[in-house]
Amino acid sequence: MSYDVAVIGGGPGGYVAAIRAAQLGAKVLLIEKDQLGGVCLNRGCIPTKTLLKSAEKWRDLQHYNEFGLTADNIGFDFKLVTKRMNQVVEQMQKGIGQLIKSNGIDYKVGRASLTAPNQINVNTNSGTEQYSARKIILATGSVPMGLPVPGGELPAVINSDQLLAMNQVPENMVVIGAGAVGIEFAAIFQSFGCNITVIEMLPNILPNIDNEIVKRMALLLRKQGINMLTNTRVTGIKPGNRGAIVEISNGTTTQQIETEKVLASIGRIPVVSGLGLDEVGIEYTSKGIKVNAKMETNVEGVYAIGDVTGEYMWAHAASAAGMIAAENACGQNVTVDYKAVPGCIYTTPEVAMVGLTEQEALAQGNEFKVSKFNFAANSKAVSMGETDGMVKIIADRITDEVLGMHILGAHASDLIMEGVLAIQNKLPVKAIAHTIHPHPSLSETIMECAHGINGAIVHQV
Ligand code: FAD
Repeated sequence: MSYDVAVIGGGPGGYVAAIRAAQLGAKVLLIEKDQLGGVCLNRGCIPTKTLLKSAEKWRDLQHYNEFGLTADNIGFDFKLVTKRMNQVVEQMQKGIGQLIKSNGIDYKVGRASLTAPNQINVNTNSGTEQYSARKIILATGSVPMGLPVPGGELPAVINSDQLLAMNQVPENMVVIGAGAVGIEFAAIFQSFGCNITVIEMLPNILPNIDNEIVKRMALLLRKQGINMLTNTRVTGIKPGNRGAIVEISNGTTTQQIETEKVLASIGRIPVVSGLGLDEVGIEYTSKGIKVNAKMETNVEGVYAIGDVTGEYMWAHAASAAGMIAAENACGQNVTVDYKAVPGCIYTTPEVAMVGLTEQEALAQGNEFKVSKFNFAANSKAVSMGETDGMVKIIADRITDEVLGMHILGAHASDLIMEGVLAIQNKLPVKAIAHTIHPHPSLSETIMECAHGINGAIVHQV
């Protein structure tokens, strides 16, 4: 069979690319070896946020008396929590399946590899099938990185895929790596009563996030009961009575921690093997497939998008790249614009950021102004009982342009869009300050913070 566009990988990069190409009139083949939705839907964004919602509801229930409520026999059943998680995932898988069908896309379950720049072999349960396509989009994503320490392969050491497949909460867990994935799982499982120790070799948790926000976040996580050891390395793991014994060192002292599970969350690696890249001459490194701003690889007619390129390993970045690749594959001439990619950490409260951190603005030698506004001074946050957090805006001292926005607080992942729009469109900070925001709303924290750049905060001294 011959197609205009074939997409390998049905994650948020691949399925979005397939739909966009079909909308533009292309005859499209989408090949996925596992489940539609990729890591994001099946083992990433959606299952974790569903678990987090249950964790938040459980936390809220435990504080019911603060809200004037009475209740008896409150509790949770983790099997039911994971059942709901699986139902949400299934519902959304079906939704993507319907979109694929209604856009007239041919869908094939199998493992694909390139045999030539426009030829694909697909290994299915019933044998190998061959397809050709004028344009091919590679969207094979990433997998968890193994733990390169002695004992890293012991059964008690699990990755995020395996943790999501568990239907009981371990009594204790050591989380190795304090990036977004490690911190989200630490927060979720701590809420369900698991004793968590996070080990991070860098001086701070959540590298790439503004230092001030990270410090406040770390305080909140410690207050929630999470033990966090930074500047600390795991030197080895041994089998133990409970599961494992993790050996750690901070350079001067060593320590052993007995634990039931060890979550390895030290990063993800792009899926480049078994794809026929060498055979076809597609350039890649250990960080991923090399692409230009049109998402083209060095081989004409072959594009790559999402985690497999190693660029901005977020679902929304993969989908944005998928749109660009599909449009170029269908004859347009468009380039991706990564100047305002938001990053969000889904903890309680959330963290969200876009643009430069204060440290980056300093390092770039920009002349800039900073304003901060606390959630505690916002009436909606007070009425919600969610006063932990702050907004921080960094703006160019001369042009007033928004350079960065950082939020720690309830609904930060929704609120950050004001900053994303401002940075994407090079707006001055007064465009936010002089826009009337609804009252009472959490978005007023952003308006007040924007006023603060010019010394005009009303509700904070
Ligand atoms: P993937 O989603 O990895 O999809 C690739 C697909 O390709 C897979 O389905 C795979 O089976 C298929 N495939 C691979 N090889 C082949 C082959 N040879 N033939 C056929 N099919 C193949 N990002 C966010 O933006 N927000 C979040 O909240 C968030 N939370 C996360 C939580 C966790 C625990 C994890 C692990 C990740 C999270 N991410 C989050 C990251 C996000 O999941 C990824 O950035 C996103 O899924 C990348 O999309 P993709 O389409 O590039 O690849």
